[in-house]
Amino acid sequence: MILTTHALAGAAIGKTVANPWLIMVIVIPLHYFMDHFRHGEYLDKKMGLRKNYWKIILDISLGLSIIGSVAYFKNFSPVQMFLVFWGAFFSMFPDLLTFLYWKFKIAFLKKPYQLHKWVHKFPPDSPESQWNLRNSVNDILFSLLAIVWLFL
Ligand SMILES: [Zn+2]
Repeated sequence: MILTTHALAGAAIGKTVANPWLIMVIVIPLHYFMDHFRHGEYLDKKMGLRKNYWKIILDISLGLSIIGSVAYFKNFSPVQMFLVFWGAFFSMFPDLLTFLYWKFKIAFLKKPYQLHKWVHKFPPDSPESQWNLRNSVNDILFSLLAIVWLFL
């Protein structure tokens, strides 16, 4: 799923669970669980990183801005602030690991990389992985749920 969706889900967990370590233990497996749902991929693997990185920056910025806005409007305390961003960060973490393995082939990241690949039940070039509205339904649903939860 897109990083915004992961960040929002992680923030929602961060708002709910007071222990940073427990948040990590929940949001990292949650990332793989979420990725198992049908979702579109916006990265064009043929184009390489230089043509793609702005999408990643935009995606991360969108997620963090939504979380920041909610934190602002809901007057989160500094501790709540820390926990939601902590949750957001570790919720996106598996994609960072995947990226590092894909780019630099760091040996000990091979297992997380393979796990990440395995949870994606639709191959990258399948119609179910195309970047379109139909394939974004799950991203939108999860994101909305997380935003509502953050606002409660
Ligand atoms: Zn992922």
